Amino acid sequence: MFQANYYYYTKKLLSCNTISPIIIIRVQHYLLFIGLLTTGYWQLTMLFDPNLHPHRRYNPLTGDTVFVAPQRLQRPWGGREERKGTAALPAYDPNCYLCPGNMRAGGQRNPDYSTTYVFPNDFPSLINAESGVRSAELDVPLTAKSLLRAAPVHGECRVFCFSPRHDLTLPQMALPQIRGVVDVWAEQTAELGWLYRWVQIFENKGAIMGCSNAHPHGQIWGMDALPHEAEKEDRRQRLYYEENGSPLLMDYAALELELGERVVIENEQWLVVVPYWAMWPFETLLLPRRHVQRLPELDDGERDALASILKRLLTRYDNLFETSFPYSMGWHGKPFWNAEFGAQSVESIPHSAFRTPHWTVHAHFYPPLLRSATVKKFMVGFEMLGEPVRDLTPEIAAARLRELPEEHYLD
Ligand SMILES: [Zn+2]
Ligand SMILES: [Zn+2]
Repeated sequence: MFQANYYYYTKKLLSCNTISPIIIIRVQHYLLFIGLLTTGYWQLTMLFDPNLHPHRRYNPLTGDTVFVAPQRLQRPWGGREERKGTAALPAYDPNCYLCPGNMRAGGQRNPDYSTTYVFPNDFPSLINAESGVRSAELDVPLTAKSLLRAAPVHGECRVFCFSPRHDLTLPQMALPQIRGVVDVWAEQTAELGWLYRWVQIFENKGAIMGCSNAHPHGQIWGMDALPHEAEKEDRRQRLYYEENGSPLLMDYAALELELGERVVIENEQWLVVVPYWAMWPFETLLLPRRHVQRLPELDDGERDALASILKRLLTRYDNLFETSFPYSMGWHGKPFWNAEFGAQSVESIPHSAFRTPHWTVHAHFYPPLLRSATVKKFMVGFEMLGEPVRDLTPEIAAARLRELPEEHYLD
């Protein structure tokens, strides 16, 4: 087919039907040589370069894929620019419902707290089964064949103020204060873990992420079901453990330490990488060096080291575009079983699969910024209908974060 077309077009090009076929073949060879030289030949022989060529990467933690299109960053940008938030915040804001001593929307008054402060969310997304507030819709039974399926879910939502200061984000806090935050994360996980299957600790930072209050705070949700992301990670880590006899994220941490190209920072107890399968431009994954499954299991040294690496990572984030770096971050750890089996130890649980140590505690950081403090990455179009597309490779993102200083740009 190609040969036939080529012969036809060569003849047409020469506009001569009477010319000898031998001359045509010679001219064809010459044109073919020039053509290969100028267009296709070098591309055919060039090796695949993940920094230049589009490719897809597999996320072993969820089974999802991400489409990496590194050439996309070269296109001109005429899109939305977020406004840079440069206004300095006061240490105390009389109108903030999270500041010490202030009245909250639900009518409660905050105590004059001086360190951390946790309270029930006045407008929770989850309702506690014991509260007696159960709606009829929640108890609709599941029918296996129905296309319209629902299951009741119960839980509770708490708000966690990192400090009384309205203006201090985590990277600007002193190490002992950040250690206090780590301890609260661990305590809350243990406490809610006795009541619920899943404890989700997270922080939504910045107006760009839909955060409604500038006072540095996070949230803690306990729920009696595994949410979708947790369920995917549970399944993938379990399968990996069954096949390989070692925890997926411990093997992954060892591999990244060996390769080094995606490691942003590390200390003796923790490491931060831009994961190979990262979806967001400057997404990172925080991993322990010891096989720890849940936050409450962290020892004293690991908690101090966690406070330290958090400060270093978040300072680098702020320094990247010299802005208070927005993100959604959160912790994932082994689900709890106490709610189903009463106050028994994990070892007494009958199902052997529950005891497999496939989980490794870890934190995800998902920042939306792409090019500057004002240009964010949009997950639209192909991202919504096909799969996430990232513009710069995780290796380049890791290198950019590595180059940054660890002194905060505001200090
Ligand atoms: Zn405040
Ligand atoms: Zn995870």
